[in-house]
Amino acid sequence: MKVAIIGAGFAGLCASVLLKKAGVSFCLYERQARAGKKLLATGNGRCNLTNKNLSPDYYYGDRDFASYALSAFDNNALIDFMLSIGVPCVAEENKIFPRSLQASSILDMLRLAEGECEICEKEVKKIVPSKNGFKVVTDIEESFDKVLICCGGKASKSLSGGGSYNLLTDLGYKLTPLKPAIVQLKCDGTKALNGIKVNGAVTIDNRTEKGEILFTAYGLSGPPVLQIARDASGKTVDLDLVPDLTFNEILELFNQKQSLDYLTAEHLFTGFLNKQLGRELLRACDITPFSTPVSKIKPHQLKALANKVKKFSFEIKDTNGFENAQVTAGGISCEHFDKTTMESKKHKGLYLAGEILDVDGECGGYNLQWAFSSACVAVEDIIK
Ligand SMILES: Cc1cc2nc3c(=O)[nH]c(=O)nc-3n(C[C@H](O)[C@H](O)[C@H](O)COP(=O)(O)OP(=O)(O)OC[C@H]3O[C@@H](n4cnc5c(N)ncnc54)[C@H](O)[C@@H]3O)c2cc1C
Repeated sequence: MKVAIIGAGFAGLCASVLLKKAGVSFCLYERQARAGKKLLATGNGRCNLTNKNLSPDYYYGDRDFASYALSAFDNNALIDFMLSIGVPCVAEENKIFPRSLQASSILDMLRLAEGECEICEKEVKKIVPSKNGFKVVTDIEESFDKVLICCGGKASKSLSGGGSYNLLTDLGYKLTPLKPAIVQLKCDGTKALNGIKVNGAVTIDNRTEKGEILFTAYGLSGPPVLQIARDASGKTVDLDLVPDLTFNEILELFNQKQSLDYLTAEHLFTGFLNKQLGRELLRACDITPFSTPVSKIKPHQLKALANKVKKFSFEIKDTNGFENAQVTAGGISCEHFDKTTMESKKHKGLYLAGEILDVDGECGGYNLQWAFSSACVAVEDIIK
């Protein structure tokens, strides 16, 4: 038996290692100059492999389809797999990383374990079902008994080429609507705050996430923003800039500063919040000039200011697009595939794994886990 694996990302590389271990002959195609480019960028170069809290609840798209693979090859299976290729893991709170905290170490060990056998700079243009298997078309045609497609999604084109859904849509497979997920938000009114970081809480609709918020020239970034940005276009995002203090506690702090009659408006934030951020809040509450003596600020103005600290709101114009997204929401519809094997119901011997499918996870290691779990299920069936 000869198997073609299309795409040397995390799913394709894990599948290659497993096929190599099983002694199955395979060919790994990769259209970029090197394998695993996106893997190197994961977790800010540290690679957040998986999460201690694994459940289908952390996934979107076809959650029911994903649930089989996620339980058959779970977070412990991924940690064991990593150890089996020589990479011990470590936990930071619930997130699991390689002990080296280097994504490059995972790529190195995967490449060594699969025998460094991929054909780089070979873009697969077409898959043609044939009598005894499939023809894989690059600038030449090669025949295989089985094909595993792990071409990733549309997110971060510079790292993965931006998707190859056409390989499947050309064969009649349905593509669900694609949207950027785990992505920054574009909002007006953040330009003056560019570069400022604050530990706060971000709320969109009824969901709140806490962590470091980053103001940028185009809008908002940082882990809690990325986590919550899904489908946020056109909505309002509310920032609580001091989640550990109540409105009354903030007001009390302002009142105490007001008793120091040598202070001016902008000193209300000195030692409390970032100076520039404080100025924007004062401006948003029409407390100007900043040199206004604190004693002249009216109680209702102080209340409005404390309110603004707890609820600094922005209209979301859009997400920051596929190029800046970590993952693609949507993909090839899972309805055409068997969740217990990842094999196509239409073309026996054709398998999918990873981000190309209509499954995506939250921030926190869930997407690499999905790439691994789905690749394992596919390989288990391929070698059966
Ligand atoms: C900046 C960033 C940080 C991230 N951090 C994390 C994290 O810490 N934890 C986490 O769980 N997830 C993270 N993700 C998401 C995660 O990286 C992806 O979901 C995961 O890598 C998808 O794996 P995959 O193998 O399905 O696809 P990919 O890794 O995208 O691999 C697909 C491969 O297929 C190749 N290919 C595509 N089409 C063809 C073709 N026609 N012929 C040949 N080759 C082709 C591509 O070049 C690519 O190398 C991050 C993503 C980004 C962009």
